[in-house]
Amino acid sequence: SAKTAAGGSVVLYDEEMRKKALIEQELEGRLAVAMEQREFEAYYQPKVDMNTRAIVGCEALVRWNHPELGLLMPNSFVPFFEKKGIITDVDLYMFDQVCRTIRTWLDKGLPVVAVSCNFSQLHFEHTDLIKQISEIADRYQIPHHLLEVEITESTIASVSEGVASVLLMQLKQHGFQIAIDDFGSGYSSLGQLQSLRADVLKLDRSFVCAGLQGPREQIVIENLVNMAVELGMEVVCEGMETEAQVNVLREIGCRIAQGYYFYRPMQTDAFERLLTPEA
Ligand code: C2E
Ligand code: MG
Ligand code: MG
Ligand code: MG
Repeated sequence: SAKTAAGGSVVLYDEEMRKKALIEQELEGRLAVAMEQREFEAYYQPKVDMNTRAIVGCEALVRWNHPELGLLMPNSFVPFFEKKGIITDVDLYMFDQVCRTIRTWLDKGLPVVAVSCNFSQLHFEHTDLIKQISEIADRYQIPHHLLEVEITESTIASVSEGVASVLLMQLKQHGFQIAIDDFGSGYSSLGQLQSLRADVLKLDRSFVCAGLQGPREQIVIENLVNMAVELGMEVVCEGMETEAQVNVLREIGCRIAQGYYFYRPMQTDAFERLLTPEA
């Protein structure tokens, strides 16, 4: 590696560090401009009923149309924005864009499905998320049940149990849907599942893949799915890529999936066409 190699490589390493710092500086400085220029765009990935193939919901995923760097995926800027404490602005901007889009669908009389949005854990530490999203939803007159708040398992694990349960309760009281995202990627115990008052449990792609490796693994995932369903949650399998995976999960009793096998995330127009009933 660069660190252990001879002198020249160390320079290269420093050069890379310097470049990374420059890019980060640039990104940080550009946030306000990027918002103003509407460079952040919501892509939509359908959630599908595996039995009927009907679209039962979707997730909004942020993309950054950077004027010089091109289309940036969340992994290349979300962690940095999170570190800088500015991801909350992007999340609310996305939520606003989603509400504006749902409003146009409602006005066109389309059969709108619930849209889920991702929220960084920073919202639960510093801001009044519920007031903020209620104001945005109400400004566009969007019924709250059409909006789903995705909170990751690790976010829930990182805030105190009291904070998490109050937050979920308040979201519920305001009529929003709640999804626990990336479940099985972190350290949640099964015991926590009963105390999480969520509507939807999204099984992380890595967890689903691992769960399909053999009969013993399958028993674990099967029982988790059953438990979640009995606790009143809808289970969504993330990252379904193959027909084989879909078949196994259907047999286990999972109804809803999100994955490349069905659809990739797509731009608003493409998703709107999927919602539009055939003439
Ligand atoms: P996530 O919330 O778990 O979203 C699912 C990710 O899995 C998306 O990646 C999606 O494109 C990808 N995916 C879906 N189906 C498949 C599949 O079959 N195979 C594979 N390999 N991947 C699949 P994406 O769009 O790159 O987003 C990555 C992560 O960035 C998201 O994971 C979420 O944690 C974060 N993110 C995205 N949008 C936002 C946002 O608006 N705010 C915040 N705070 N985070 C966001
Ligand atoms: Mg998500
Ligand atoms: Mg996820
Ligand atoms: Mg995930």
